[in-house]
Amino acid sequence: MHLPHRVRSYIRSLDRFPAYVYDLPGLTAHARAIRTALTTPELFYAAKANPDAEILRTLAPFVDGFEVSSGGELAHVRAAVPNARLAFGGPGKTDEELALALDLNVDRVHVESPYELTRLTGLCGRPVDVLLRANLPFQPPGAVLSMSGPFGMDEDALADCVALLADHPDLRLRGVHAHLASGLDAPAMLDLAKQITGWALPWLEANGVTDPEINIGGGMAVDYADPEARFDWAAYDAGLPSGVRLRVEPGRAITAYHGWYVTDVLEVKTTRGETYAILRGGTHHLRTPAAKGHDQPFAVVDEREGGLRPVTLVGQLCTPKDVLAARVPAPRLAPGDVVAFGMAGAYAWNISHHDFLMHPAPAFHHLR
Ligand SMILES: *Cc1c(COP(=O)(O)O)cnc(C)c1O
Repeated sequence: MHLPHRVRSYIRSLDRFPAYVYDLPGLTAHARAIRTALTTPELFYAAKANPDAEILRTLAPFVDGFEVSSGGELAHVRAAVPNARLAFGGPGKTDEELALALDLNVDRVHVESPYELTRLTGLCGRPVDVLLRANLPFQPPGAVLSMSGPFGMDEDALADCVALLADHPDLRLRGVHAHLASGLDAPAMLDLAKQITGWALPWLEANGVTDPEINIGGGMAVDYADPEARFDWAAYDAGLPSGVRLRVEPGRAITAYHGWYVTDVLEVKTTRGETYAILRGGTHHLRTPAAKGHDQPFAVVDEREGGLRPVTLVGQLCTPKDVLAARVPAPRLAPGDVVAFGMAGAYAWNISHHDFLMHPAPAFHHLR
């Protein structure tokens, strides 16, 4: 894959691997382009995709706020970007987390169940704006992950929440939240958005919500097989329903492209006809390809002449699952060569099983 010049020359200056390199100028340009394209909805960044504090601060000027999914994320994001608006979502919220959300003045609580709402009513001393998270029976074609299961509420549970809210004027019902799928391109996302708003607007009107707000979630596609492809934010914006207050909360499509996991080749060996490059580090630092079952795209920092040949890039773990890319064409590799895996800026380091085998952790670098 293409390795931007500024990232390549920075990597050449490093003397210790593995390392994560976050390209903050690249991220700034990307976030600015998304912000410019999105004229209709509010834009929140889902912090769980990558909560790195410098990344949050880089994004802050271009987003309307941050979506957080735990007490840990609440405290961390509040400290990293103190004045940002926060929306608190996620299943299994504890009383402590709900109390922290109120203490830290979150902008919205995304309520996941009548039981959660009951516990929130017990904590409330002042007005709180809530969205009810809906689990709607829409089948988005081509979704990579469908977010049904334990998330959100069906129509009966939503009705129970409305009944509870009638007795608790401190809790203001502002609208509905529906994050139903991930990995959708712009036309499929628009189709889903229309189904959500088509259901939610009459439901909210019937329940007396004026000026309703609908959070249509995140999940904008990132194609690991095509590192240059981008979600079409402008087409998405142009097709969204008008006249309703919308919010989106993507994570992956914002930060995936500007993180690099960089490491060096320890050994190259051929076993039973298959050539392996064994790298310092592995999927305990970059679990994304193992978790999603893809080949992580990469660039060799200083390529040799002589054409491409198939190689399997593996890490140091004692498991056959420690594969970063399998039988992919690459220039000839030798010990000491440096490989930079791209698209490692979201669901990468922070979803990985760092302590397995007790190898040293990567260093983190922020390119400015
Ligand atoms: C994970 C998540 C997101 C972000 O999803 P991406 O696929 O990273 O865009 C948004 N909203 C909720 C509720 C989530 O759980």
